[in-house]
Amino acid sequence: MDKLTLVTPVEGWVAPLDEAPDPVFAERMLGDGVLIDPVGSSLYAPCAGEILSIHEAKHAVTLRCEGGAEILMHVGIDTVRLRGEGFETHARAGQRVAVGDRLISFDLDVLARKAKSLVTPVLVTNGDAFPIMERIEGKSALVGDMLMRLRGMATGAIAKTSANGPEVTRTLIMPLAHGLHARPVARIAECARGFKSDLTIFAFSRKSSARSPVGLLALGLAGGDEMTIAGRGEDASAAVEALAELIASGMGEGVVSAAMPAQSVVVSGPRLLRGLTAAPGMAIGRVVPLLRDEVRNDEESRGFEAERDALSAAAAQVRARIEERARTAPEALRDVMRAHLAFLDDPELIAAAHRRLANGVSASAAWRAAIGGFVEALRASGNRRLAERVDDLLDIERQVLRALAGADEEFIALPKDAIVVADAILPSQLLRLDRARVAGLCMARGGATSHVAILASAMGLPALVAMGEGVLAVPNGATSILDADAGTLDILPAAAALERARMSLARREERRMAARAAADEECRMADGARIEVFANLGAVADAAAAVENGAEGCGLLRTEFLFIDRDSPPDEDEQARTYQAIASALGGRPLIVRTLDVGGDKTAPYLPIPAEENPALGLRGVRVSLWRPQLLRAQLRAILRVKPLGQCKIMVPMIADVGELRAVRAMLEECKAALGVDAGIELGVMIETPAAAATADLIAAEADFLSIGTNDLTQYALAMDRGNVELAARIDALHPAILRLIAQTAEGAQTRGRWLGVCGGLAGDLLAAPILIGLGVTELSAIHTLIPEIKALVRRLTLQSCEALAREALKQNSAEAVRALARRFQETLP
Ligand code: PEP
Ligand code: MG
Repeated sequence: MDKLTLVTPVEGWVAPLDEAPDPVFAERMLGDGVLIDPVGSSLYAPCAGEILSIHEAKHAVTLRCEGGAEILMHVGIDTVRLRGEGFETHARAGQRVAVGDRLISFDLDVLARKAKSLVTPVLVTNGDAFPIMERIEGKSALVGDMLMRLRGMATGAIAKTSANGPEVTRTLIMPLAHGLHARPVARIAECARGFKSDLTIFAFSRKSSARSPVGLLALGLAGGDEMTIAGRGEDASAAVEALAELIASGMGEGVVSAAMPAQSVVVSGPRLLRGLTAAPGMAIGRVVPLLRDEVRNDEESRGFEAERDALSAAAAQVRARIEERARTAPEALRDVMRAHLAFLDDPELIAAAHRRLANGVSASAAWRAAIGGFVEALRASGNRRLAERVDDLLDIERQVLRALAGADEEFIALPKDAIVVADAILPSQLLRLDRARVAGLCMARGGATSHVAILASAMGLPALVAMGEGVLAVPNGATSILDADAGTLDILPAAAALERARMSLARREERRMAARAAADEECRMADGARIEVFANLGAVADAAAAVENGAEGCGLLRTEFLFIDRDSPPDEDEQARTYQAIASALGGRPLIVRTLDVGGDKTAPYLPIPAEENPALGLRGVRVSLWRPQLLRAQLRAILRVKPLGQCKIMVPMIADVGELRAVRAMLEECKAALGVDAGIELGVMIETPAAAATADLIAAEADFLSIGTNDLTQYALAMDRGNVELAARIDALHPAILRLIAQTAEGAQTRGRWLGVCGGLAGDLLAAPILIGLGVTELSAIHTLIPEIKALVRRLTLQSCEALAREALKQNSAEAVRALARRFQETLP
């Protein structure tokens, strides 16, 4: 073959390969070539050929030249860790390119700050067949300048291997966090070259000789992917074993949480686990326990000042990283990040750490101890919502400890369709999971209103929390069906169940797309009956998103989110501004503002509710408003100031008798008079206590509307704390007792001609919606992301069939039986 010329792919200084700051390159384990210290910011094709691979971290490209020489270009050293940050690709694997075509561009500033070195090896990886005859070195080169000339050899010159005997195979999971990139590929190829047998690595439907670095790179193996090593020849067993051992050793790289190969999974515990729905949806995948790699910190103090400076530098580094991420994150994620930033800046936390530094401990020990004190205090508070903040504190602890140890940001690689299982998943860990690979989340602990639950919903990831220790014993790699809507994880399901789940997933996806397309349309049943589908809101930012999802209004504004997590209550003006902003974002659609619902598990530091033996049965909801009437007065006045008048309706939580409603109405009238408002403002109640349900007719006589809070109604009717992890699996609002209370409420509302809604979690349960409608509910208010699907479901229903279903549901003897009935009903829908 003629000589082949490679031109300079990136402008820069060309140096000998021996100067590479990494032995994999300097010792030519991947092939011979040169180093370029780039001044340009684009990498171009050095010859015409076909792209064999571009690494998913976008930093390395392999190219087969016409004629067969294989070239690897690797921008910078250790740049795989940047996971694509600062890189952009302009070509893809399999594409034919001409000399000079742009392949990758990169941000030199980012690389200069974050990469170990910018030098870019340009290598011929099959140099046995294509030796380098001539090369430039020790000078600058422009793109297109001659870089190397290669000589082609007859293919017969390539070393032959022995390939007789039976095939030996080993299947394993790629444990390297960054998958197969240049360094591990070089080690594998070097190891394979020490044997005589034919050695092949299979992954997905691709394969490569274990001796070919380029072929191995082209497999595109990521951490957690399943791979098979196959050998045939006289030393095949030893070779396959040696390669498997080398790969399993992790080769000094970060190691992933990885699923075991499917065939090695054995289950001894129960096959169906239950938990609380933290984020809805369904997924089929393989269980992968989330490993936490331990951070090693210096435990010796170098003196107060040095340790204090180290701590504040680490905190600053974490703060900068969070702020950078927050800039592009969706609103729900930004809220979590803001909470983390607040912890980092908390003066009490910092003072607690400094006190310990002064006692002569290291920055890391002081930080751990300070956080530990706060964690204990939160846990000891016995308050579920505060306890849910523990994970946020632990998260911040961990991030600062990593920064103090100078460790990279933890990278969590996963196999495809991973159902990630952990005791608790920290918010920052969730944000670093590869979204394309994670199918769902299962946590032993955690609450349905924790930040991780909010994040999972925002990311569209089905998630269960409060599953108990049992979930941690699920074997790594077990194929499972996560049905977060039903609150179940089905481990190693039978083939038929798996097939059903697959079909159900496909149908869901189809329906989801169709539902989204029709989300804006008014919601009517198939027979024309009108059902309103509203959104539950907690912040201004959600209102626009709710409208986009087709919300016809807001059926529950949880105003307490304005009141908690702060040191003083918002005054009338602040409240008026917030309610106005939400009303405006809803564009005239009805806005039902619930008066303050603190107490129980939602505390506000400025409201010193006396210690209670049993807070769920203590001062909460309307009882707090009547206990501190000035708060209620400010809130009612703020609501009355929203324009246009009448868009806002007022709803009172936790009513136990009509007297409470009368007291609120009296104050409303007083505020209206003071503000000169004479228009009628609707005043409704939440039915959350069995007492209210039982006397719904009496309450409806004086309330303008009724809306059932199924979360509380269920906890009070079943006498089961809605935050109790042990009881989580049994708190099901489809219990016939709750349905009978709803039926009684509906009857009470109907006799007085009032409309009845549901704004508790049951409104977003697609199995429940037909039963609720059949019982007489005409408004459903749920998390806004569910609205398109609720509307789509309602359009398939008729009032008559829902009423028949509801009658049957009332006769069932358990929540499971009601769910089974509802499932059968759904199967009959058109
Ligand atoms: C409920 O109890 O169902 C409800 C909607 O109120 P919250 O969940 O805010 O207590
Ligand atoms: Mg409630």
